[in-house]
Amino acid sequence: AKRSGRGRSVVYASALGAASRRMHTVEQALREGLGQGQFELHFQPKVDSQTLQALGVEALMRWEHPTLGSISPGEFIPAAERCGLIHELGALALKQACLAARDLPGLNVAVNVSPLQLMEPGFVESVERLLVRAGVGPSTLHLEVTESLMLEDAQAALRRLHALRELGVQVALDDFGTGFSSLAYLRAFPFHTLKIDRSFVRSLTEHADARAIVNTIVRMAGVLGMRTVAEGVETDRELAIIRTIRCDEVQGYLVARPMPLPKLQDWLAGRPL
Ligand code: C2E
Ligand code: CA
Ligand code: CA
Ligand code: CA
Repeated sequence: AKRSGRGRSVVYASALGAASRRMHTVEQALREGLGQGQFELHFQPKVDSQTLQALGVEALMRWEHPTLGSISPGEFIPAAERCGLIHELGALALKQACLAARDLPGLNVAVNVSPLQLMEPGFVESVERLLVRAGVGPSTLHLEVTESLMLEDAQAALRRLHALRELGVQVALDDFGTGFSSLAYLRAFPFHTLKIDRSFVRSLTEHADARAIVNTIVRMAGVLGMRTVAEGVETDRELAIIRTIRCDEVQGYLVARPMPLPKLQDWLAGRPL
């Protein structure tokens, strides 16, 4: 037992070593990649769940590194948050999104914003500047934030969100149902939109309780005057249930995957609606 115990800890230690080397590599590469324009937004449509008309897009950052290959945001966003580059990366996302919005008339453009970025001094002013410079109306821009925003200093976060609302930008609560959101937060800040996490959508077809939960979320959002988006819809059966529940919008591989701007424009042009 002793030997296998020691063997295991050696395995853990070397796995940990590999993980921390990878983290270091990624953080170094981030710095370089930002300077060399390796980052590009892709866009995934959000459509009306009943008519399937396109209403907007979510901007998702993509990173193609010349030697490391493509690195997922699930890896590089946390890395950027750890090493402080999230501010630069976040600003790039906002800028590219505002420019894209100009080429996508009639559609809103949603950008994911890290808590660190949203809480940095001057954030609201920088958003305003970008909108003016791109000539895009504030209500075109949606910012997606997660519940983790409320963990540090909920009062300060609420003030920020109110300032954004004042500016006319819309704010969506992302990954709803996975975190710590309490009804108190929802009442304190009326988000424009709730995005119902993929994990609920995934369970819809199997579990009656998931249907009941999503149904309740949609009804509650209705009472609070918020729109709802079902994330990660992959099958016709999921869509059928989402429609019955009358969730406002759907987003997911069933409709379209995230794609570069020119491809999105082709996709939009090729649709009957
Ligand atoms: P998220 O905001 O929840 O974005 C939705 C994720 O689900 C995206 O993953 C999208 O590609 C994926 N997805 C969409 N439809 C489906 C589907 O039908 N099935 C499945 N299995 N997945 C689907 P992605 O692009 O890998 O992004 C992961 C996360 O990284 C995002 O989760 C977001 O939290 C973060 N992220 C991406 N871009 C940015 C950014 O520019 N800034 C910040 N702060 N975070 C970002
Ligand atoms: Ca999102
Ligand atoms: Ca999400
Ligand atoms: Ca997520």
